[in-house]
Amino acid sequence: MNARERLAVEIVSLAPGERLPCGSSDRALWTSEDATERARAARACLACPVVVACCEAGADETTGVWGGVDREASDAGAVRECRADAA
Ligand code: SF4
Repeated sequence: MNARERLAVEIVSLAPGERLPCGSSDRALWTSEDATERARAARACLACPVVVACCEAGADETTGVWGGVDREASDAGAVRECRADAA
């Protein structure tokens, strides 16, 4: 099973009432052209129940926010490690 598949499994296995922050009314923040807005999204990810799996699934992404990491940030390479303690 690859990282995308693991993420999909975790999402469909969410407990009733668990929500993905990027599924909120603020979802545009995750793909915003504004770095400050993407930083807000990245902080919101840290409360996500699938943050580690999402970070791993987005490892090769170069746009948007995945798993608490702004993939467009100039220092993204330095923070791409998925933090198990972020969840
Ligand atoms: S960790 Fe992934 S699934 Fe969770 S809010 Fe962030 S982008 Fe969405």
